[in-house]
Amino acid sequence: MVANPPHVVIIGAGTGGLCLAQGLRRAGIGVSVHERHATRADGLLGYRVGIGPTGSRALRECLPPELFDIFAVTCARGPRYFNVVTERLRQTASFPLRPDTDDVGAERSVARMTLRQVLLTGLEDAVEFDKTFTHYEQRDDGTVTAHFADGTTATGDLLVAADGTHSAVRRQYLPHAVIRDAGTINIATRIPLTEHTRSLLPERVAQGISLVFGAGGTMGVLHVMEFKWDRNGDVKPGVAAADADLLRRWPGLRHDTTRDNINFIIWSTARRFPADVLRRRGDDLVRLAQDLTHNWHPDLRELLARSDPGSALPIRVSTSEPVPAWKSSTVTLLGDAIHTMTPGRGVGANTALRDAALLCRQVRLAAAGEKTLVQAVADYEAAMLPYGFARVHDSLHRSGTSGDDRIYRPVIGRLALLGARGYFGITSRVPRLRRKFVDDFYTYRGEED
Ligand SMILES: Cc1cc2nc3c(=O)[nH]c(=O)nc-3n(C[C@H](O)[C@H](O)[C@H](O)COP(=O)(O)OP(=O)(O)OC[C@H]3O[C@@H](n4cnc5c(N)ncnc54)[C@H](O)[C@@H]3O)c2cc1C
Repeated sequence: MVANPPHVVIIGAGTGGLCLAQGLRRAGIGVSVHERHATRADGLLGYRVGIGPTGSRALRECLPPELFDIFAVTCARGPRYFNVVTERLRQTASFPLRPDTDDVGAERSVARMTLRQVLLTGLEDAVEFDKTFTHYEQRDDGTVTAHFADGTTATGDLLVAADGTHSAVRRQYLPHAVIRDAGTINIATRIPLTEHTRSLLPERVAQGISLVFGAGGTMGVLHVMEFKWDRNGDVKPGVAAADADLLRRWPGLRHDTTRDNINFIIWSTARRFPADVLRRRGDDLVRLAQDLTHNWHPDLRELLARSDPGSALPIRVSTSEPVPAWKSSTVTLLGDAIHTMTPGRGVGANTALRDAALLCRQVRLAAAGEKTLVQAVADYEAAMLPYGFARVHDSLHRSGTSGDDRIYRPVIGRLALLGARGYFGITSRVPRLRRKFVDDFYTYRGEED
C-alpha cells in the first residue's frame, strides 16, 4: 500500500534507468523517463552484454513476472565455456560453465537492443524520446525540475541520473567527480552468423565466451549470439511451445532488429591506434582492426573481413575515480553516471541493475511512509558507493583494460603475456584450481555484499 507516492523523474532510458522505472511502476509509484535518442530503436545497442546472477536477480525483483520470463526467452543461447585462446586460435584454457539451472543463477548473453526492447515493454506511456537533459533546479518545496534542450521540463520529487558515463546530471550535481580515459580502445564488430562463419570457429569457441590473448599486445573477445528467432524475426522451429508462445505475443520483437551474429571485439592500448580512430567508421575501421591483427589466424581474419561494416564501432574505454560521500538530496545517480567502469570484468550493466533494484526498494520504503525520501536516497547511496567503486577498481586493475597494463609494454609485455597464458593454462588443467576459478567467476558475478 503506497501511503505517499512520490513522482520520480529518470534521465536516460538505458539499462539501469529502465529497470528502475519498471520496479517503480510495479510498486505503483509515478515515474517518467526522458531519453535523448529519438526513437526506441536508436543508439549503439547492437552488442552483447553479459548478465550474471546480480543482474538477473535485480531484473526479477523489478520486472513483472511475465516480463522477466520474456527477458529469459530473449537471451541468446547461454555460453557453455569460458575459453582463452592465442591469436593463432590455439586453446590455452577452457573452463566449462554451469548449465542454466535456475532463473537467476546462469550467465546470460543478451543483445543490448533486445534488452532495451524488453525493458521498454509496458512503459511506453512513461518514456519520452528525443529529450536531451540540459540542467535541473531543486526547489524549496522539495520538488526538482529537469530541463530539456527543446525547452520542455519535467518535475518530480526525485531526479535520478541514469544518463551514463557522460552524465549531464552528474556534471551539475557533482562537478568534482572524475571520469577518465582508461587508456585502451576497442573496435567492436558484428559478423552475421552463417554455417560458413560458424565453421571458422573451433567448437568450444562457438559455444563459449572466448578471450584472445594476442602476441604483440592486441586482445580480443568473441561471443556467438544465437537467438530463438530467425532472419525474418519468426520463431525458429524447435523452440519449446511455451517460449514460442511468449515470443509471439511479445510486441517488442517487432522493434528489435537483432539477428544471430558473432560479436568480435578487439582492443589494445590507445597508443597503438591512430589519433583519429574515434572518428573512423565502416570499412575504414574494419581495415584498422585487420591491421592490428595481421599476425592472427586466417580464420579470425576472415571473420573480420566478413563483418558488417555498418556495425564497426570504436569505443574509448573510460573509468571513474571514487567520489567522497556527499550530502544526499532529491537528486541521485545510478550506473555509469556515478561509477563508470571498464568492461574488464563485465559487470557495469549488472551493477547498474543492482543499483536500480536497491534504489527502488528504498523509494518504496519512503512511499510507504517508513522514512523520508531524502533518507531513502541517503541509505541507497551509503550502500551503492562502496560496492560500485569496488567494481570500478577491479575492472580497471584486474583485466588488461588499463592502457598502463604491463601486457602492452615492449619486452615486459611478452613476459606478462606468457605469465597470463601460463596462469590460465595451469588453472584450467588442475581440477581443484579449475573448480575454484569457476566458483569465483559466479561468486563475483552474484555477490551481494
Ligand atoms: C565494450 C563494452 C562491453 C561491455 N560488456 C558488459 C558486460 O558484458 N556486462 C556488463 O554488466 N556490463 C558491460 N558493459 C558495461 C555496460 O554497458 C554499462 O555499464 C551499462 O550499460 C550502464 O548502464 P547505465 O544504465 O548506467 O547507462 P546506459 O545503458 O549507457 O544508459 C544511459 C542512457 O542515457 C541516455 N542519455 C545520455 N545523456 C543523456 C541526456 N543528456 N539526456 C537524456 N538521455 C541521456 C543515453 O542515450 C542512454 O540511453 C560493457 C561496456 C562496454 C563499453
